[in-house]
Amino acid sequence: MGKHYSIYGIAKGLLLYVLPFAMLGWYLDAFWQTLCFALLLKLVWHYYFIHRLTHWLWDSRTLLPPPGRGVWTDIFDGIYRTLRRNQSRQRSLSTLIRRFRQASEAMPDAAVVLKEDGTVTWANKLAQLYLGLQWPGDSGLRITNLIRHPHFVKYFKSGEFDHAITMHSPAHHAMDIEVRIMPYADNQLLLIARDVTQLAKLERMRKDFVANVSHELKTPLTVMQGYLEMLDEPEMLPARQVSKAIHEMSAQTTRMQNMVSQLLELSRIESSGPETFTDEVNLAAIIRSCGKDAELLNQQKQHQINFALDDSLTVYGNADKLRAVVSNLLTNAIKYTPEGGQIDISWLRRHRSAEFKVCDNGPGIDPIHQSRLTERFYRIEADRNSATGGTGLGLSIVKHALEAHRSRLNLDSEVGRGSCFSFILPPELVEQTQAANSREPADSGNQIAGN
Ligand code: ADP
Repeated sequence: MGKHYSIYGIAKGLLLYVLPFAMLGWYLDAFWQTLCFALLLKLVWHYYFIHRLTHWLWDSRTLLPPPGRGVWTDIFDGIYRTLRRNQSRQRSLSTLIRRFRQASEAMPDAAVVLKEDGTVTWANKLAQLYLGLQWPGDSGLRITNLIRHPHFVKYFKSGEFDHAITMHSPAHHAMDIEVRIMPYADNQLLLIARDVTQLAKLERMRKDFVANVSHELKTPLTVMQGYLEMLDEPEMLPARQVSKAIHEMSAQTTRMQNMVSQLLELSRIESSGPETFTDEVNLAAIIRSCGKDAELLNQQKQHQINFALDDSLTVYGNADKLRAVVSNLLTNAIKYTPEGGQIDISWLRRHRSAEFKVCDNGPGIDPIHQSRLTERFYRIEADRNSATGGTGLGLSIVKHALEAHRSRLNLDSEVGRGSCFSFILPPELVEQTQAANSREPADSGNQIAGN
């Protein structure tokens, strides 16, 4: 091994082989016959090694070459080296491919490699999840036969890949995906699909939100514009009508003010997220103070309001957020219960947790509305047009304020009998005493979803 092929070496070897035969032929006076015999022998010798080479390359399982002689040592060594070099190149190439595959599997996106005509060459695991592709099962098939969404087919056929498209995932209809195709190398295409369900949902919510706010502001502004036009010439109007216009305009301004301050409160509560609470809160005192604030509202309704409050119950939380919860639930109970109703408010220890509950004997809420009550601007149609109708933001504020306290709003309501809104603060937010009850309470009512 380690020898190098040289034409000089080969020629020298041949000469040294032939020379003794030539001399013998000369001596025996049969020069050409002896030379032919020598060359024939050499040919047989070469055929023998050709046979060994063929056997080694085709039949032998070992990479080690058979022992060679003369020029065949160089040939076997040369082939052996080339095989070794190829083997190590192949090894590093497969390591590279393995790493590339691992990297593309680690990507949070679906990746598919396509030929220019759209045939699938390779796809990662997320491509199965997002696009419903099977690899290697779908290898060699056209992508437009696998993803038949008209939007995608049009995008692929257009060949204009300078923008991405958004569509429903062919594998999961509830999932929105953004698909982008990028040409690379020689006539290869890389398709990347990412899950944008959350983004699309946020975008829809943003649009709904703007539409709702604009709609809610438009109504009072239109009413006010009407009155202002009427007041253009106040001397032409009877005094009673002027005072009615001013009263109405002031009511609409209050309505707009309420909505803006509730929107600000909602955005403040939403943006803060879950917190670690260190401040002690006396919720019984907050409930009493909210009860006092609600007295004015209750003057017209004349409800009987009963309190059952545990003053010894101390919790950890955000006093402002808990006040917003209590105030909204209490105001709603007063607002939506017809005159002379009964409202029971309780704040009691439940084993190691604490439960707040507001029950009224008002109209109750139909189950079809219950799961949507905490959506922003959601109001039951009957209340939307009535004088009691607010902004539809109150329960959304309640939901987010409770989430910050790792709690949820529960509702137990029956049409014609009344509603009970409640929430339970978890044990970690309740100051524990010796007297803590030994029985874990069952959750009361249904949990309300919505956003
Ligand atoms: P609003 O500003 O309209 O009161 P909320 O988010 O506080 O908005 O309440 C949403 C809807 O839930 C209300 O419009 C009302 O129809 C219904 N609702 C809330 N509380 C009660 C209740 N105690 N009794 C009956 N319906 C209620």
